[in-house]
Amino acid sequence: MNSTPSEQSFIPIAKPLLGEDEKAAVMAVLESGMLVQGKRVAEFEARFAKLCGVKHAVAVASGTASLWLTMMAYEIGPGDEVITTPFSFIASSNCALFVGARPVFVDVDPDTCLIDASGIEARITEHTRAILPVHLYGQPCDMAAIMEIADRHNLIVIEDACQAHGATFEGQPVGSFGTGCFSFYPTKNMTTGEGGIITTNDDALAERLRLLRNHGQSQRYRHESLGYHFRTTDIQAAIGLAQLEKLGPWNEQRIANGRYLSERLTGVRVPVMARHRRHVFHQYTIRVSGDRQAFQDHLREQGVGTAIHYPLPIHHQPLYRSLGYDDVLPEAEAASREVLSLPVHPALSQSDLDRIVAAVNSFAGLT
Ligand SMILES: *Cc1c(COP(=O)(O)O)cnc(C)c1O
Repeated sequence: MNSTPSEQSFIPIAKPLLGEDEKAAVMAVLESGMLVQGKRVAEFEARFAKLCGVKHAVAVASGTASLWLTMMAYEIGPGDEVITTPFSFIASSNCALFVGARPVFVDVDPDTCLIDASGIEARITEHTRAILPVHLYGQPCDMAAIMEIADRHNLIVIEDACQAHGATFEGQPVGSFGTGCFSFYPTKNMTTGEGGIITTNDDALAERLRLLRNHGQSQRYRHESLGYHFRTTDIQAAIGLAQLEKLGPWNEQRIANGRYLSERLTGVRVPVMARHRRHVFHQYTIRVSGDRQAFQDHLREQGVGTAIHYPLPIHHQPLYRSLGYDDVLPEAEAASREVLSLPVHPALSQSDLDRIVAAVNSFAGLT
């Protein structure tokens, strides 16, 4: 007999990997006494810019702050519209609300759950300033189509790459097409505890971002514009530098885990990999037709953690309902009813992967 699930450890949906490197890096910062916006932050920015193949990276307090600050740096505001996806974490579209602009939703592709680029042009108006694609689950959007539309209509592109560190489209890193926004929250492909970063090739934009994240301050106590406090610390940057060393192998492991699952799962729709993309599997998200709650309960009983990303599309969130949104976006709505994320993180062992497969396939066998 196999051991019962209670004798085996529970497989969590996400697991930040923090080891001796991170501890030593943090201790070195504490011993230096330079805690904020010092050498480690500058080094982390340089290394992250290199990862994305861009000239500048500007570290900030969170992924949400990266999106918000980018909106402010582009002076997007009241009267402006930002075209984005209804199927993401709420911060993706809220950043438009933060600056008084209006998110405009385009439904997603039913296979990838990414914004359907062919639906964007119909939503462009004279008020549109930006397109904000989200590289959901670690899979890049169709950046060829999106950049072509943006160029033709003279629109800003802000990539929400909060789930896609190291992903590429046609070999080009995400965060290098438009202005890239990344998060380092603990569940992401790499973490700094909390944190975020903005990537760009635009010198003037980078300078504006640096001013705005620090009270609009150009020299000590000289303030050029209304700025904010969105800085990050050397402690976080030191953790990030240690994590960056391992991001490549971790992403490879995520991709290998994803492939392993996709080759073996039955009775569910496995993730669709669009062409010419490196999908870094921030999430491994299947589609379940039928009773998703029962399926999730079954997996929990088998010791497999799951999560729903996301149970409500953004236009159905109470906040957006209260703002008058009444869009009908059938693909995003169907995805919200059917998606289920399984563990794919690089801490999974071979036996964890086999337990996930067995747990999924044993439920599918019952239906
Ligand atoms: C995590 C995430 C964010 C926000 O990042 P925080 O660091 O938590 O503020 C924004 N967009 C997406 C798609 C995310 O997954």
